[in-house]
Amino acid sequence: ECTERKELWTEKHVLKHLPTRQPHVHKGTNGKALLIGGSREMTGAVMLSAKAALRSGAGLLTVAVPDVIHSIVATHLLEAMYLPCATKKDHFQGELAIDFGRFDAVAVGPGMGRTAGGQKVVGEVLQQRVPVVLDADALFHVTELMLLLKERKEPTVLTPHSGEMARLCGISIEDVEEKRFELSKQFAVEYGVYLVLKGPFTIVTTPRGEQFVNPTGNAGLAKGGSGDVLTGMILAFIMQYTSVQAAVSNAVFVHGKAADLLLEGKHTHTDIIATDVIEKIPNALKLFQ
Ligand code: AMP
Ligand code: MG
Repeated sequence: ECTERKELWTEKHVLKHLPTRQPHVHKGTNGKALLIGGSREMTGAVMLSAKAALRSGAGLLTVAVPDVIHSIVATHLLEAMYLPCATKKDHFQGELAIDFGRFDAVAVGPGMGRTAGGQKVVGEVLQQRVPVVLDADALFHVTELMLLLKERKEPTVLTPHSGEMARLCGISIEDVEEKRFELSKQFAVEYGVYLVLKGPFTIVTTPRGEQFVNPTGNAGLAKGGSGDVLTGMILAFIMQYTSVQAAVSNAVFVHGKAADLLLEGKHTHTDIIATDVIEKIPNALKLFQ
């Protein structure tokens, strides 16, 4: 049951699929998100994801990091709550001791590194009955956990760039670039996931094989941290939308739009950094109010 649907996701689509606004919300109804990531070498990635999630409407955000970096992350991010986890050699030791039932969505990966502890963490997350976003080093670990991926019942979103996609498929980056649509579709349908193949004209593919191409974004995003920002946005949006596809496509659109707004203002491709993109999320969102 694989469809041939392939279309551009435009401003019109974004508007049409915005979540309905409820005036009587409280922080709980806006969603409780859990973000898992970070290591002593990479403290920034998880902070960027967290900030972006908060700027994108997450009601309550808990950040799980190796306890060795808890204080530095917590100092920079006042609006989040924290779950300091056991550290082994500057990374997650592997045992999380998290009650996943408390959360509406989980994102894992940014800055976590490629250690055995990280693989354990990703394995545990995949076994939870909650929507999951896998990015960055979680995509590295998932190649050893494909069975768990297939068995999942709740939505799973994977956000590889071409290099990560090449590794997921066991082929070269050149081959990914040549067959972006076909590969995304094969992968999404086979594993029953939402696949976000990033890059200029990011493709969002659903588990049924429908494909939506994003027109926003620019080369200013080709910097470390851009993807971490997108992960936070997707995490926040999937809690607020009824359609996972609309949530993911809208997050990708708004992320790119924020970068485009930077170019319309004082910025150039050269100077844009991920923090600037986060700061433009409010302006990009306001276009759709
Ligand atoms: P990552 O490689 O994980 O940091 O993700 C990079 C993010 O920036 C993704 O959302 C890409 O789609 C976006 N991006 C990178 N380079 C470009 C580009 N040249 N044009 C448009 N978007 C880009
Ligand atoms: Mg990345």
